[in-house]
Amino acid sequence: MVKCKCGNKGIYYQKYSNKYLCRECFINDVERRVKKTLGRNILKRNTKIIIGLSGGKDSIVMTYILKKLFKDIPDTKIDAIFIDEGIKGFRDKARKIITEFCKNEEINLKIISFDKELGIKLDDIVPNLDKLNIGKPCSFCGVVRRYLLNKYSQGYDYLAIGHNLDDFAQTILMNYIEGNIKNLIQFGKTTEGFVKRIKPLKLIPEEEVKLYADLLNLPYQKEPCPYSSISYRNKIKNILSILEKDKPGVKFSILKGYEKLLSIIDYNEKINRCKICGYPCSGEICRVCQWLKMLKVR
Ligand code: SF4
Ligand code: ZN
Ligand code: ZN
Repeated sequence: MVKCKCGNKGIYYQKYSNKYLCRECFINDVERRVKKTLGRNILKRNTKIIIGLSGGKDSIVMTYILKKLFKDIPDTKIDAIFIDEGIKGFRDKARKIITEFCKNEEINLKIISFDKELGIKLDDIVPNLDKLNIGKPCSFCGVVRRYLLNKYSQGYDYLAIGHNLDDFAQTILMNYIEGNIKNLIQFGKTTEGFVKRIKPLKLIPEEEVKLYADLLNLPYQKEPCPYSSISYRNKIKNILSILEKDKPGVKFSILKGYEKLLSIIDYNEKINRCKICGYPCSGEICRVCQWLKMLKVR
């Protein structure tokens, strides 16, 4: 039997630290890293956080740990927001999981739908993507989701997003490869006019998020979105796993290097307000309002 340093049976081999961890020590290790990521400036009295909860393992684990870490800190508020894009057979399932999870965890949940907010569901937009000059559903969905998350996080100190270490390493690498410097910077910084974003799982590899969820029997949606087109991201994922095999810890070093770079880059885009809805944007009218005009919804 392989043992954890505490003497109990090891259930997980953490390659980058070359350690076997037992169930207890693994759970503590994950929570300790989330605590470290948040730091004392966030883990304190009077902090108000809104969580973007999708129903996938990352956002569920993040919510569970945030709730646990803030449990004994007075005057704090942790609410969640769920965006229902209108994807039949997929989001309705997530909605059920989340509603029950938030009830059990005593979390105030706001459900916001594309249908109510925009007057149209994602399922009805997909056949019209050509009209908007958009190639993939995600390009529309991602922008609108961000728009709604920003809108409904106003009044909170932080908006918590469930990106794990793998998401970070993949996004950073993809943006480098494509030379997409603006996106690269925006991923790590909060745009002026928005509530500050925090990513509590940034030091937790994806497989550890999954293991944490499974060890604690947390409910989460396992099937992927029917519109997801992640082929390029998957290639990057494969490249990263080859690198990680050769040199465990490479994802951490990609993140570290990126953060060093961010700290010395002084980049501030001039931000206007959308003339129609008031949303911060670089042009005169934000992308969501432009699309809604083209779809003749607004
Ligand atoms: Fe939206 Fe794409 Fe995510 Fe599906 S995979 S929810 S379409 S961004
Ligand atoms: Zn142990
Ligand atoms: Zn607008």
